[in-house]
Formats: sequence, structure tokens, C-alpha cells
Amino acid sequence: MTVNAVRRPTSLTAELLEGLVQRVPGTTGNTWKLTEVYTGDLLVELPQSSETDIGQAFADARAAQQVWASWPLKKRLRVLKKFHALVIKNQLLIIDVIQAESGKNRRMAFEESCDVPMGTSHYLKRAPSLLKDRKHAGPVPFLSHSTEVRRPKGVVAIIAPWNFPFATGISDTIPALIAGNGVVLKPDNKTALSPLLGVRLLEKAGMPPGLVQVVCGEGPDVGEPMLANADYVMFTGSTATGRIIGELAGKNLIGCCLELGGKNPMLVLEDADVDEAVHAALFGGFGNSGQICMHIERMYVHDSIYDEFRDKFVGATEALNIGASYDFGPDLGSLVSVDHRDRVAAHVEDARAKGATVLTGGQARPDLGPAFYEPTILEGVTQEMLAGSTETFGPVVGLYRFGSEDEAIAFANDTSYGLNASVWTTDLERAQSVARRIDSGNVNINDILATAFASKGTPSGGLKQSGVGARHGDQGLLKYTDAQNIAVLKKQVMEPQGTQTYDAYARQTRLSLKLMRKLRLR
Ligand code: NAD
Repeated sequence: MTVNAVRRPTSLTAELLEGLVQRVPGTTGNTWKLTEVYTGDLLVELPQSSETDIGQAFADARAAQQVWASWPLKKRLRVLKKFHALVIKNQLLIIDVIQAESGKNRRMAFEESCDVPMGTSHYLKRAPSLLKDRKHAGPVPFLSHSTEVRRPKGVVAIIAPWNFPFATGISDTIPALIAGNGVVLKPDNKTALSPLLGVRLLEKAGMPPGLVQVVCGEGPDVGEPMLANADYVMFTGSTATGRIIGELAGKNLIGCCLELGGKNPMLVLEDADVDEAVHAALFGGFGNSGQICMHIERMYVHDSIYDEFRDKFVGATEALNIGASYDFGPDLGSLVSVDHRDRVAAHVEDARAKGATVLTGGQARPDLGPAFYEPTILEGVTQEMLAGSTETFGPVVGLYRFGSEDEAIAFANDTSYGLNASVWTTDLERAQSVARRIDSGNVNINDILATAFASKGTPSGGLKQSGVGARHGDQGLLKYTDAQNIAVLKKQVMEPQGTQTYDAYARQTRLSLKLMRKLRLR
């Protein structure tokens, strides 16, 4: 296959692309050349937003948010129900756009697009119960009570990466909207089109215009003005940028959720089904060309099955179909950019130079497209190598042997990251106990990542340097709210009554405290 053979879908008309970027304010006058990754050809000139544009975007979102938050929840949910249907109706167009701007294979673009309806459907079900007022007991039995009222934060800044632009951009927007917020979304310049399409569908579903704003620019240029205007920030990206966002959130005293990088381990225990584990390892290492935050970069395999696993894994990797195509054929697509390909290649070269063995791969593939890189398996990787300690974020996997379960767990935990881990064994009880000893926010047993990520009812986030907070689960919605505590005292009894001395009041209060504990009243 050559680069020239790629046929861009006819759905990606100039009218569509120019219509999408029109919504991005750009008084800087500068534009970013947003290209089709498979070919390097220009798709559209993306406006770059100035500090003033960003201030205005927040002001406009704030005005629309006042209206949106005043709607009854049922009315807001009707919009999201319609949006869910529109995403499925337009799914093929969405995946055309995702593929063009990210270079991923179509299967992965399809799976990415499914995340949005799944998350939307979950919160459509769960929101009425989560957002309703909750009555709690007050300090004085019978005479007091308190109500927990969930209020939207206001306008939420959502900063999204390029690897799952539609999912991270839109899936994180949905619960913020359901909770009654406005959103200012900043996608990566490389992948602004699919979230822009998502916002268009939200408006088509009946969302008030202006409630979700999209601003674009280089991260360091837009970060400060976004954080200065936001009431909360939801950030997904690298650990290095996450630190900057966390500092800015602290400076502005707003809450943040930071979903960051990983260096995720897969543990293949001696009783695992080797063929199943090998099959899964292909996706674990090379799904989305290794550009999934939860993908596997370290594979620990029990000594007794290591050779069999390695040989089968290398063979299966060499049989993968890599290519630039807008159909469901290829197993693997491109990396997102030439710069990123060079970063991945640098990790492999560093490992090679420091003594690692390349079992397969280790080459760029300019014959397939400008940013393609072969799926690569390394042996002999050490912590001194870039690929041994830091996130490569490409189709590069290190293989390691272990002898005992304790050793495997110690290896898995020997990292500053804690995002995801995958444990393979036919003994599910054992797997549970191993999982609980791994310092990771997500652990998938006999799967790589999808089971945990698609369990929308359970919070999913990173431990250690992989993040702060979580998406999904109840907290994935409640984080976009403030709890207001409205307390009622029917009669003032929390002070000495009439001529009662404070001594007598203190004695009576201590007695009440004892009694309430004994009767479990408070
Ligand atoms: P990145 O941190 O470079 O960029 C992420 C986003 O932040 C982009 O929109 C970027 O423009 C913006 N940004 C960069 N500097 C900024 C600044 N100073 N102020 C404000 N915004 C700024 O990350 P990336 O390379 O785009 O994405 C890959 C990383 O994201 C990997 O580390 C991956 O593991 C991580 N990731 C994590 C998750 C998760 O859920 N934990 C999901 C996807 C990706």
C-alpha cells in the first residue's frame, strides 16, 4: 500500500470542515494547519483563540448556563436523549472525522465513538437520583434537619488530548451538562474536528446555543486564561501538563480532575490460557497504535510459559495488518503525527543503544504514511531506558519474566504511575487477590482495559502520578456540582435556655451526646 492509495471519505467535504471550525473564535488571526494524518494533506485551517476570545467564550457560556440551569432536569435530559440518538445516527460520519484527524484505524475510531452514547446512557439513568435533594438529620433530633442540594459549578473548562478526541472531549462534557453547567472545551489542535462535530450534534439535539464553547490554541497559550475563568477544570493529558493544570487550579482555588499518563503492566500468571493472553496482548500493546492511556507497555510473563508466550506474541504481531484505510480492514493505523512518531522511535533507539533486543518492529513505515511506526516488542528493557520508566505512548512493549506472584506484583508496582493493570489467570479468586495488591486505579482481570473503562457505574481514575479524581461512577457527575447545605432549626435549643447557666447547659449537652451515641441517634 502506498500513501497515494488512501481515499478520503466523500463525507469530509470542505463545507463540513469549514462549517465545523467556524465556531472557534480566532481574533489572533493565526490558524493551525489541521491535516489528514494518513497523507499529511491539509484538511482545514483551524482558528487560534486569543485571551480575549477565551474570556468572551466563558462569558457567553455563563449567560447560556443561567438559562440551562433554570430548566428542570427532565427537560435537560430530553436534550441528552436526543443527542444519544443523533450520535448513533451520525456514527459513520463521526468516525470518518476521527480517523482523518487522528490517523487511527477504523475499528478503534468506531470503538471510541461508542464511548459517548454509553456514558450518556449511563448518566441519563443515574442523574435523577444523584441530583435530587437529599434530606439528612440535623444536630438536634426532631427539631432540625439539613438538605443537601446539588448546584452546578458554573462553567467547566474541559481540556482534552488528541488520542481519543471525541470520547475525552464529549464524554466528559455530558455529565457536566447534565449537572447544569456550561462548558468551554479546548481540544488539541490536531484533533479539534470530532469534538466540534459533537458540539454541533448537541445543539441539533436542542442544547441552548453557546452553552458549550470550543476554543483552540497551543496549550501553554490558552491554559492560564482558561483556568482564570473556569469554575472547575477537567483535564486529560500527560502527567507533566497535569501538574501545570493542578497548580493553576490551586492558584485560582477551583476544583480539578486530572486524568493522566500510565506505564501499565500486564501480568500473565502460570495458569493463564496462553493463546488468549497473546491475543489480548496484541490489543494491549498495539491498540490505537499504543496511544491509549490504559494500554500495556510492560508485560510480565511467568517463567514457565514465557518462551511460548514470547514466540506466539512475536508471530502474531508480525501477522498484523497495518495500513492507512477508511475501512475496517487494518488492525493498526498511524501514530498521530510525525513528531510523535519521532518520540516513539527515540524511545526504541535509546533502548537499543542501552542493550535491549528488538524482537520485532523497531522501524518507521513511511511507505504506509508519514507517521506510521511498526508494532515493536523489546526484551531486556531496564529502568535506565526511556522505554523502561517513562510512558512511550506508542506501539512499543517490553517483555519481562517473573518467577513468583510476589515478584510479579513488585514489578508491576515499581513505577510512579498507577493507571491500569491487566491480570491473566484462570483462577478468578487468585486474580482478585493479586488485583488488590496492585497500586493501580483500574485493574482488568482477563481483559486489557475495556471492561474497566466501559463499566460506567464505577469511578475510573489513576493512582500515584496517574491522576487526581475520576470520571464515571457517581463521582463522575457529582464532581461537576457543589453541595449546598440548607439546614433548618425549628426552635433554638443549641444554647442555654432561659435562666439556665452555661455549666448546666454543658452538663446537659454532654449527657445528650452520650445518649445519642448509645441510641445511635447521631
Ligand atoms: P498533553 O498533556 O501534551 O496535552 C493534553 C491537552 O492539554 C492538549 O489539549 C494540550 O493542548 C493541552 N495543554 C498542553 N499544555 C497545556 C498548558 N500548559 N495549559 C493548558 N493546556 C495545555 O498530552 P497529549 O500528548 O495530548 O496526550 C497524551 C497523554 O494523555 C498521555 O500521557 C496519555 O496517557 C494521557 N491520557 C490520559 C488519559 C486518562 O484518562 N488517564 C486519557 C487519554 C490520554
